[in-house]
Amino acid sequence: MSGPRDPRTYDLDALREDLLQHDDGQVNDSIPELAEADPDLCAIALALADGTVRASTQADVPFSVQSAVKPFLFALALCDTGGDALDRIGIEPTGEAFDAIKLESGTGRPPNPMVNAGALLTASLVDGDTAADRDERILRGLSAFAGKPLEVDEDVAHNEHLLGDRNHALAHLMRAEGTLQASADDAVAVYARACAVLVDARTLAVMGATLACGGVNPLTGERVVPREVARDVVSVMATCGVYDGSGRWMRRVGVPAKSSVSGAIVLSAPGVLGAAVISPPLDEQGTSVRGALAAERMSADLDLHVFGRASHH
Ligand code: GLN
Repeated sequence: MSGPRDPRTYDLDALREDLLQHDDGQVNDSIPELAEADPDLCAIALALADGTVRASTQADVPFSVQSAVKPFLFALALCDTGGDALDRIGIEPTGEAFDAIKLESGTGRPPNPMVNAGALLTASLVDGDTAADRDERILRGLSAFAGKPLEVDEDVAHNEHLLGDRNHALAHLMRAEGTLQASADDAVAVYARACAVLVDARTLAVMGATLACGGVNPLTGERVVPREVARDVVSVMATCGVYDGSGRWMRRVGVPAKSSVSGAIVLSAPGVLGAAVISPPLDEQGTSVRGALAAERMSADLDLHVFGRASHH
């Protein structure tokens, strides 16, 4: 058997061509902007720990980050609360859909920061007296993870807020339980804006690499979050990042990751690299079909499975 391939020369466009042979899955239609996504958009990028970024064709096409923002919101909430966020939110996988109307029994806390209830709460815990202050803090924090200024797609933010009935329901439920301090409407608005931040595969890979590199952006050298925060976030990505598909993901791919309804997946292979794949058609769990295939292939080819790495490392 041949050894692992080198990420510096790995042929991302050949992988992309293979992925385009698959056309299973459904594009999310919760808001018009997502429903109109090109089902044949497909891009892959790698950001290595030494700061090298490698990208396929279409890796500069923008899309809204959606749930792939959740690990970064958790990171910012952990920073800004000095770790207290860990008392206010669970870290157990749910085995349920990302938007399940359900809180941890007994405590009324969100089950984990990777499902919508949890992300609504983490977005409300970042520093800021008003919703606008929290929007600003989140955009600044996400930009530091990316190593460049990011922007919000205002139409996506507006429609997510307007049409996100389940998110409004979750926010009200957390208010009723006393676990959400912000107003329900502010919590949904801030979370919706965070989901509407525009990235591309290249940018999202760098964000994943910043977590994989213990909180230091490998391009800018900036320490974005403390090392223990990055470790906590990547741990929860490993156990909860792909919702009710997290167990299968860990066996098949073995790299902590976060999926999203735009068809993006961000991956953080600790100490090695960050990666991102975008392809809008989703499986039943809301995970990009081509994204999962790409992740599985890259994990095998580049020897990234955290529990299956060969002895030459
Ligand atoms: N903005 C979407 C929502 O709140 C994000 C969900 C996702 O990407 N899984 O429903």
